[in-house]
Amino acid sequence: MPTLPHNITKLQQRITAACAQNQRCATNVLLLAVSKTQSMAKLQEAYDLGLRHFGENYVSEALEKVPALPKDIIWHFIGPLQSNKTRFIAENFHWLHSLDRLKIAQRLNEQRGEGLAPLNCLIQINISDDANKSGIHPAEMMEFAQEILKLPHLQLRGLMTIPKAEQSLEDLEKDFANMAQLLRQLRVINEQADTLSMGMSGDMELAIRHGSTLVRIGTDLFGARH
Ligand SMILES: *Cc1c(COP(=O)(O)O)cnc(C)c1O
Repeated sequence: MPTLPHNITKLQQRITAACAQNQRCATNVLLLAVSKTQSMAKLQEAYDLGLRHFGENYVSEALEKVPALPKDIIWHFIGPLQSNKTRFIAENFHWLHSLDRLKIAQRLNEQRGEGLAPLNCLIQINISDDANKSGIHPAEMMEFAQEILKLPHLQLRGLMTIPKAEQSLEDLEKDFANMAQLLRQLRVINEQADTLSMGMSGDMELAIRHGSTLVRIGTDLFGARH
């Protein structure tokens, strides 16, 4: 069974290779360890091996993990967020990848501690127009972004997507290319938008080819989830 050190090395090699193939610098692609359902011991092991960015999907898990793990971890919330559970995220997380409702944004903005830096936010885009997925429609991105930019305790840093899984490679590639185009559009009104969160275990190379700056990796890092 592959070990965590082996998996990390392999992932770093994959990122480096994908960047080299596309004339990109590997330091511009962040590896986010998607740690949902993983034990505290696993996260600590990944931390000891040098990983600092962790992604969680459930507030209930985050409530246990965040206080118990090292203080210099950079926490990313990547799952759907209910409006009655925003406070813990506002007070403890550094990034939110799944912003797609103004009401949630307003609550986070109110609840973000005065002493904390603004919460880094990514607008989740439903790029494949998939009825089962959250995220806003690409055509509504700019209008939504304008509203987010009014909130002083949020910092709009870019876009995130989870494309439809069951589609052809060509359609997936089209989705990724469209995301890159949307980020260029967003940068016209917001030069802080430097982040494109796309690519998971199965498609990170293709995402990097299309400008991803952050790959969210669970399975190929920690193994299959139970
Ligand atoms: C679980 C999850 C991932 C990780 O997916 P893997 O295929 O296990 O790498 C990435 N992004 C989001 C939003 C997830 O929920």
